[in-house]
This record gives sequence, structure tokens and C-alpha cells, in this order.
Amino acid sequence: MPQLWKAAHARGFPLDNRPQVKPLPCSSIADGSLIIDPFAKVYKCWELVGLIEHAVGTVNPDGSLIKTAVYNDVLERNPVTIEPCREHAYLPSCGCGCVCKAQGQSGTYHAPGCGTEKFLLVDKVRAYLERLDGAEGSTISINNLELELIEGRQRPKMSHCYVLV
Ligand code: SF4
Ligand code: SF4
Repeated sequence: MPQLWKAAHARGFPLDNRPQVKPLPCSSIADGSLIIDPFAKVYKCWELVGLIEHAVGTVNPDGSLIKTAVYNDVLERNPVTIEPCREHAYLPSCGCGCVCKAQGQSGTYHAPGCGTEKFLLVDKVRAYLERLDGAEGSTISINNLELELIEGRQRPKMSHCYVLV
């Protein structure tokens, strides 16, 4: 990934990979994020589609949702009750990681799902500082493109799926 960031940056793509505050690790843990399979079963994580034990409900013909116990179990995931996450300095940027990984590794949604932030956060900071070092003022010029260095506070943001990034 760091090589890819550098290559993208060198070609003029805007890049802001500073650590960001992520109240939610991914869409799977957002209340309104649902995946409906062809059998009307509802899931929250696309990696878990088809695994009936992870279905959070079924859509009725009238459009209503009959929830399973899994629905609240996923949404009640709380990083401050998960021991390694509660004390981890990366938590604000990580949000407790991937729910699917937590299940796969620990058999529960209420466990760490360490993903890209754990393994790439240092590289993200390094890449950002390298760009700052090479810059004069608030803009840099690459291949006739004027790029503005992004400063200031990051807005809270939801991560993309950890599996994809
Ligand atoms: S990196 Fe791992 S241990 Fe740290 S907050 Fe994220 S999921 Fe928890
Ligand atoms: S990050 Fe993990 S929990 Fe979220 S959608 Fe991707 S696989 Fe599912």
C-alpha cells in the first residue's frame, strides 16, 4: 500500500491518508446498512452473506423486517468493553476493526478485528510527513498539477471495508 500511495501521489491523485477518527469501523455496524440476499435473508456484512447463523433477519413480503438476535448482538458491539481495544492507542482511528474478522478469529462479534489501521497506520503517518517534507508552502507542483496539502482537522469518517483496503 505505501508504494501504491506514493505512485498515486506522484501521478497527481489527491491523497489524504492521515489517520482519521472513525466512530464506526465499517458499514456493517451502522444501523441502516443492510444486505438482502435472493432468499430475503438480511445480513450486515457482505462477507457473511449466505452464512445463515449471521443473518440479522428476514424481509417479509410486506417489506417488514423480522430480526434475529444477531441484529442487536452486532449493533451492541462496543470497543470500550473489549479489553485489547479499550486500551489501544489506535482505537480512535480503528473503531475496533472488522466484525467479520472478530467472528472468524474469536467466534464472537465482541472481539478485536485488527485490520488495516493496525498494520498501516504508521506508514500512513510516514507517507503524510514525507509529503510535507517535500513541499514548499501549502501547495506542491507535480506534473504541472498544483496540489494542495490538506491540513486541519479530519472529519469523522466511516472506513471502507477492511477486506477491500
Ligand atoms: S488495532 Fe486491533 S486492538 Fe487496536 S483498536 Fe483496532 S481492533 Fe482493537
Ligand atoms: S470490514 Fe469486515 S465487517 Fe465490515 S463489511 Fe468488511 S468484512 Fe464485513
